[in-house]
Amino acid sequence: MITAILCAAGSGARAGFAENKVLREWCGMPVLSYSLSAFAPFCDEILVPCRAEDEAHVRALCAPFPQARPVRGGAFRAESVLFALREAKGDIVLVHDAARPFVKAETIARCIRDAGEYGSGVCAVPATDTCVLAENGLMTAALTRGCVFQVQTPQGFFTKDLLSAFERAFAEGTAQTFTDESGIYAAYCAPPRLTQGDRGNRKLTYSEDFAPAERAGFGVDTHAFAPQGDHIVLAGVRIPSERALLAHSDGDVLAHAVTDALLSAAGLRDIGYHFPDTDERYRGADSMQLLKTALAMAEERGFAVRSLSAAVLAEAPRLSPYIQTMRASLAAALNVPLSQAAVAAGTNERLGYVGEKKGITCYALVLLKLNAAVIR
Ligand code: MG
Repeated sequence: MITAILCAAGSGARAGFAENKVLREWCGMPVLSYSLSAFAPFCDEILVPCRAEDEAHVRALCAPFPQARPVRGGAFRAESVLFALREAKGDIVLVHDAARPFVKAETIARCIRDAGEYGSGVCAVPATDTCVLAENGLMTAALTRGCVFQVQTPQGFFTKDLLSAFERAFAEGTAQTFTDESGIYAAYCAPPRLTQGDRGNRKLTYSEDFAPAERAGFGVDTHAFAPQGDHIVLAGVRIPSERALLAHSDGDVLAHAVTDALLSAAGLRDIGYHFPDTDERYRGADSMQLLKTALAMAEERGFAVRSLSAAVLAEAPRLSPYIQTMRASLAAALNVPLSQAAVAAGTNERLGYVGEKKGITCYALVLLKLNAAVIR
């Protein structure tokens, strides 16, 4: 029988959160739910040490897994694990940081195999950076890189061995000096066996770890032609045209599509919400200024633009002589190199409203990257 202990008794202090980080939603699901789903197929019992104030929340997240339940957490990690170990019914126990949601099934399986075969299986990966020892800012020794590993979780053991190591560490008052189970096991039981971990099995520690590195947003806009005029404006570029585009603003249909894509990627409401065409302030507005305002709003949320891909559908006027200028204008407005701003233009083969020269439609895809450790 196998027991998993998913450590969830933290406070989120290092991430700067007011709440427990493993209860936080991340990419559509609370962080803890990823580990619960990963361990459930392997484990007969899942214990989740947590703080008293989080117990109801943890219990709700455990509900879909009949073998999972919260247990009382301690004042520090080792105490939380000790409390859970005392309740564990499995002969093998896997201790895992609930803040490592990316753990793979193969990693859990290897950990269980080694724990069963050798009495311990501690997931670890070889260090890729050179590691040194230092004191007061001075390097005191270089470590042989081939001998240095980064220890992860899960860490699997025979429950009785780990429990007795923990009881001794607590009896001797050393428990708080260890940062993980392998340290206590090594000190009071035997050298733990390392199991091949996985580089993707990283721990969400700081607030920036919680943000997906990139977010995409899509935007589309259409404007109809007016009966007359002598130019249109696309991406702030004045282009001769037999008819203008009807609009409250300057009718820059390309800038509008890009603005909507940008707002969408930043998780903000659309252009009509932020710059309503009923507002006199936006009469004849320079849409590239609105785009820059939208960029400032995205930047305020910690984002920067990585790339833009836009397409213009127009039967007339001919746009190819202006494409490079439009690209340069958008690249400058979005603060990206020219190579990261693409604009394509095409006709609609005389089909539909575009083909009948009744209007122009633009599509845009904006990719944002997280620029700072600012998550709101
Ligand atoms: Mg528009």
